[in-house]
Formats: sequence, C-alpha cells, structure tokens
Amino acid sequence: MPELPEVETVCRALKKNIKSREVSQFKIFNRNLRWKIDSKINKCVHKNILLEIIRKGKYLLFVFTDGTLIIHLGMTGILKFFVSYKNLKIENHDHYQIIFKDGTSIIYNDVRKFGSLHWSNKIENNFLIKNLGVEPLSNKFNADYLYGVGKKRKVAIKNLIMNQKIVTGIGNIYASESLFLAKIQPNKKSNRLNQQNYIDLVSAVKKVLSIAIRKGGTTIKDFKTIDGKPGYFHQELSVYGRETCPCELNIKLKKIKINGRTSFFCGKCQK
Ligand SMILES: [Zn+2]
Repeated sequence: MPELPEVETVCRALKKNIKSREVSQFKIFNRNLRWKIDSKINKCVHKNILLEIIRKGKYLLFVFTDGTLIIHLGMTGILKFFVSYKNLKIENHDHYQIIFKDGTSIIYNDVRKFGSLHWSNKIENNFLIKNLGVEPLSNKFNADYLYGVGKKRKVAIKNLIMNQKIVTGIGNIYASESLFLAKIQPNKKSNRLNQQNYIDLVSAVKKVLSIAIRKGGTTIKDFKTIDGKPGYFHQELSVYGRETCPCELNIKLKKIKINGRTSFFCGKCQK
C-alpha cells in the first residue's frame, strides 16, 4: 500500500516526466473508485493549464489554473506514464487517462479500486484535504508539537502518529519502523512518554521517511517504462513483516493488533 514515500516518489517522477502544461483530453473508463468519479471532471480539466504537481500527505495534487485534481492511490493504485498516447492498449483496471498537448499521457490503474479522484475549486475547503495534519518532513512536525498533542491524549503511540489529523502520510509500515528506530513500544500510551521519547520519535519518523524517499528515487526509472511498472519499491524493513529482530539478539518479534492493524515490535529493543 502506497504511503508517503511512495507517493512522493510518484510525485517526483511525474514532475520529471510531464513537460506539457495543457490537457488536451481527459478520459474516464470506469467511474467506480472509492467515490464515484464526477463525470464533470472532464470539462474542468479539459484545456486547463497545469501549474504544478505537489504531494500533500498521501494525496497527489495537480494544480490547474481553475482548480485542483486530487488523486489518491488507495491500496493498489498506480499512475502509468506514456511518452505517446497513440496506439495505447487500455488494460484491465485502467480507470482514467490524462492526455497532454505534447502527446504524453498518464493512466490510472487500480485493481482494488480504493483510490479516488476529485476536482476542487477551493482546495483548502475540500473534505479530503482540510483536516490533514502537519507534514512529517516539515518543521511544523517537531518534538514540542507531538509532545503537546500526545500528553493530552491516552492513545497507543502508534495510533497517535497514524492519526492523519495530527500528522499526515504515516501508515502502518513507517509507523512500525519509526517506533523501532526510536526504541518505543507501539502500544505505549501517548501520555506516558516523556519529552526525550518524543524527540527520538520525531527524528526517527523523519529519518525513516527520508531514507525511503531516497530509495524510491533510485527506482524512478521503473516508473517511466511503458509496461506500466509502478513507482513503488521493495526495501528492507527492520520490523514490519519480519519474523525476527535485526538486533544482535535476533529474537522473535512480537506481533500484536493495535486498532485492527498488525504491529511488529521487539520486546527487548523497544521499551
Ligand atoms: Zn531487538
């Protein structure tokens, strides 16, 4: 499932590849994503000028002169880039296509259809965007901020950092990895952690995400291929999905459910 680093990787690849600014065609093949695609999007995007592509949390924003396309990749969504839209075979699970004036095109493919596509004239009021918390890689996400939020609540620390209203873009994988690096047990209550714990955690989150983005950057070339390989990547994770801890003890990791999500942690390394 794409998390912040994967979306950032896709965002950077799109910026690199999309040179044309004007949309010449917009096609919808299947409107049934997580929310039904508004058929009026066609009209909104057509001939509109693309100003920039940015990432906000796990959303990709295509900012046009008249409004913004909000793309979410859901669980299995990928954006395929093509140097020419001509003779393209539309495949199973291709849902929409943007064709630019220079002939380049992107197609959204999503097997499980949990992704979404919206158009908004006023992005700051959009229901998907308006409640998003701070960006984890920005200065607003710091130990003082997180400590302030955490001490007032009594939730598992893992849930706190996965709460999109507090900090946006951290999912199960990177939450688990960050807590391992910060040596904090994922089920520890947020009000029981001290300031130093929060300093460690914030720095771990930033480090884990930055490394993942850097690794994602190396696979950007896959994203360009015409066979539609996704921009995601497999990387080595310390605890998520593993049986044993990478520490020298090499002990068996504990697996618990927090808020219905499987959490991996080392009972020795994480306190
Ligand atoms: Zn360990």
